[in-house]
Amino acid sequence: MRIALIAPVLTLVLSGIALAYATDAEADAALATFKKEYATKDEGLRAKAVQTLGGTQHKKIVDALAGVLQKDSTETVRTFAARALGGQWSPTAVDVLGRALKPGDPQAEKLNQAVLAALASTDSDAAVPHLTSFLKASKTDPSCSSSALSALGAIGSPKAIDDIIEVLGETKNKVIVPAAQAALASITGQQLKTADEYKTWWGVNKGKKKTVQVFRCEGTGRVFEKTEKDAKCPHDGDKNPKCGIALKTKLEAK
Ligand SMILES: [Zn+2]
Repeated sequence: MRIALIAPVLTLVLSGIALAYATDAEADAALATFKKEYATKDEGLRAKAVQTLGGTQHKKIVDALAGVLQKDSTETVRTFAARALGGQWSPTAVDVLGRALKPGDPQAEKLNQAVLAALASTDSDAAVPHLTSFLKASKTDPSCSSSALSALGAIGSPKAIDDIIEVLGETKNKVIVPAAQAALASITGQQLKTADEYKTWWGVNKGKKKTVQVFRCEGTGRVFEKTEKDAKCPHDGDKNPKCGIALKTKLEAK
């Protein structure tokens, strides 16, 4: 059951470091500092500059981090950029991360792992197609597959169920099978074993099972569930009645 615990822990970590969106002026100031600090051949200092930049929430910050993720000369700094992008709330961060995945490239193993973890921490449905296509493209690679599966399990979106069942049905690998089972258990709340068992359960419950909408608070970055249609954000909904960036739809527990 370790997988099921990852999502709330990530949420706590993210809400601990990030406070509200920056204004344009604040983002420009953070970028000016970053430019100075990043202009060095020392990769440790560049990584630190990237990490600091990630502490500010803004679309412009996502663009700058995307540039580092694509172009920095060292893998270490690129992995720091991936991690920082995973902590950005702007939905564009998800696509930047998704495009950085290189399935089937053994040279990109470390970066792929960092990007998969970052996609998990975006906690969004938008990350799911990137993760499932990576999973299908690397289904003979136990290390990449199991990381993609644990990211899908942590997000918990039912959009991944069909693809995970397919992967589970096609493999007997000792690493991938338990990873796929754990991901399905985390998403569905059902402790089943085989692809056929999950297929039967999903056939009965798809469209029937109640769902919960999950949102991110625009003021605090914290994640909350809306059980009723017009429910306000529990963190600052009195000040901002429309608060809430749609993240994902989950199946109701039990
Ligand atoms: Zn809010």
